[in-house]
Amino acid sequence: MGTTTTPAPSAVALPILADAGIDYHGDGSAEDILRWGLERYHPRITLSTSFKDGVLIHMLSQIRADFRVFALDTGRLNEETYELAEELRRRYGIQTEWIFPRHEGVEKLERGKGLFSFRDSLENRRECCYIRKVEPLSRALEGLDAWITGVRRDQGVTREGSHKIERDQVHGGIIKLNPLADWDQDRMWAYIRANKIPYNRLYDKGYTSIGCAPCTRPVPAGEDPRSGRWWWELAEHKECGIHVQDWSI
Ligand code: SF4
Repeated sequence: MGTTTTPAPSAVALPILADAGIDYHGDGSAEDILRWGLERYHPRITLSTSFKDGVLIHMLSQIRADFRVFALDTGRLNEETYELAEELRRRYGIQTEWIFPRHEGVEKLERGKGLFSFRDSLENRRECCYIRKVEPLSRALEGLDAWITGVRRDQGVTREGSHKIERDQVHGGIIKLNPLADWDQDRMWAYIRANKIPYNRLYDKGYTSIGCAPCTRPVPAGEDPRSGRWWWELAEHKECGIHVQDWSI
């Protein structure tokens, strides 16, 4: 499948590197950063996907067929997310390394606090995210040198400072690649359409950000794209913990 040239970067400008000690001297494009990452770290590098779309999977498939990919199955995902995962598996031949929460933690949470405790307080929401996402992520990254994410600076105030290449101090200082950090929604959709890349059908139902089913809802046109995530919380709290350095439970 061919790949179109990506349009100009969005308005937010940050250095590519968060750390001058990282040995990268490329052009900073998403494709070049992925190529650098795979050449340097494969097989100790993996893509983290939540199956919003197949952009990074498409790009990686152009570089080498045996790239690694993992996903966190929180137990609360939408059916549409599983359907996209399956579509991408068939299209690109990927073998997703699914990571599940520890069942003891989920059982204790649901038996003690019910099925929707995350709506009751920020502390409870972070507890659920910790059990279903943060702890499983730490297991997914064990023994790796680098991981790749789809984080973009336009996804909310908590992500505005993301660099394309940074060190993940929460996970032992391994390299974290955010190749799409300077992309915006328009650029994403242009790339998806140009390359006929599968995407999550929830986008056709008014969703602008996709996470767990009970914590995500459609967003009216013109509103902050991330306002559909944890809509009962303040904007500065809208992170599940896997992309932040400064909170844990
Ligand atoms: S997004 Fe919601 S359901 Fe998913 S782990 Fe976080 S609090 Fe729990």
